[in-house]
Amino acid sequence: MIYPWNTTRRFNAASNHLKKEFGTRLQKVAIDAGFTCPNRDGSKSTGGCTFCGNDAFNPSYCSPQKSLTQQLNEGIEFHAKRYRKAKKYLAYFQAYSNTYAPVEKLRELYYEVLKVDNVVGMVIGTRPDCFDDNIAELLCELSKKAYIMVEFGIESVYNSTLSKVNRCHSFEDSVKAINLCAQRGILCGGHIIFGLPGETRQMMMDSAKIISELPLNTIKFHQLQLIRGTTMGDEFLTDPSKFSLFHLEDYICFITEYLSCLNPNLIIERLAAETQPWINLEEKWSLRYDRVLALIEHQMDVEDIWQGKYYKRTGS
Ligand code: SF4
Repeated sequence: MIYPWNTTRRFNAASNHLKKEFGTRLQKVAIDAGFTCPNRDGSKSTGGCTFCGNDAFNPSYCSPQKSLTQQLNEGIEFHAKRYRKAKKYLAYFQAYSNTYAPVEKLRELYYEVLKVDNVVGMVIGTRPDCFDDNIAELLCELSKKAYIMVEFGIESVYNSTLSKVNRCHSFEDSVKAINLCAQRGILCGGHIIFGLPGETRQMMMDSAKIISELPLNTIKFHQLQLIRGTTMGDEFLTDPSKFSLFHLEDYICFITEYLSCLNPNLIIERLAAETQPWINLEEKWSLRYDRVLALIEHQMDVEDIWQGKYYKRTGS
C-alpha cells in the first residue's frame, strides 16, 4: 500500500522528505556555539530541567573553544568516514538554547555556518521562551537562502508536568513560538518526551490530538531516559515508585497506537531515543535506533496501523 506521504512506510518519515528535496542523503553535524540557557544561568532558574544532562550529548569534535567553521569542518570529516553516502550537511545547533543571544549575535553565527562548504542549511534547537519576532524575522530572511528548521523543546503539552520537571516555561509559550514560525513559513519542529513523572499513559496518548493541531512541520519523540547526576536521576534513586518508565515492549505498543492517532501530515524525525540510559530497565533498550525503529514498524505491520489511521481533525 502507498500511504498519503507517497511511500510504503507506515509513517511519514523525515528521511524521505529530505532526500526528495536535496536528491541525496543529508547528514546533520552537531555544533556547540557556547550558548547557555535561561533555566541554568539564573534568568529563570539555576537548576535546569530536572532531566537535563545536556553535556552528555556533545560529540567529541564539538567544543565552543573552536570556531563554528572549525567544528563543522571537523564534524564533516568525521561523518564522511562513517557515512560515505552523505554529500551535503546541515549544521545542527544542538547544545542548550541556540536562540538565546541578541539577534545581531545570532545573525553573525548563523551566517558563518552557511558559508562552510557543502553546508546547505541548519537546524536550530531551542526553548520556546527564547524566541521572539526579531529572531523569527532573521530566520525568515535566512530561509530564503538555505534550509532552516527550528526545533522547539515542547517536552509535554501539560503545564503540570512542565512545572514538575522545572521546565520554567509553559505549553502556551510553545504554541506562541510555533505560531511565530508558521506565520512566516519558517520550518518548525517539536520535541516531546514520553514518560515524564506525573503523566499517565492516557495523558500521553491524549496529547496526540493536541500535537496534531499545532502548525508544526516535524516532530521527534523520545522515551524518558534517566541520566546519572541529574536531579531526576537522584529523584528516581530516592523514590522509584514515582516513575513509570517505559520498557521496550510497552513503548513499541504505545508509540504504535500513538502514531495511529497522529496527524498524517506531521513529518516524523524520530520515534525513540538512542543514548544508553543510565538506569537500564533492561538490556533491550541498548538496541541501536534502527533496530528499535524496525521493531516499531514490525508492530505497525502486525496491527495494520499507519500514521493517522484513526486521526480526526478537530471539527471533522
Ligand atoms: S532548557 Fe534544555 S539546556 Fe536548559 S536546562 Fe532544560 S534541557 Fe537543559
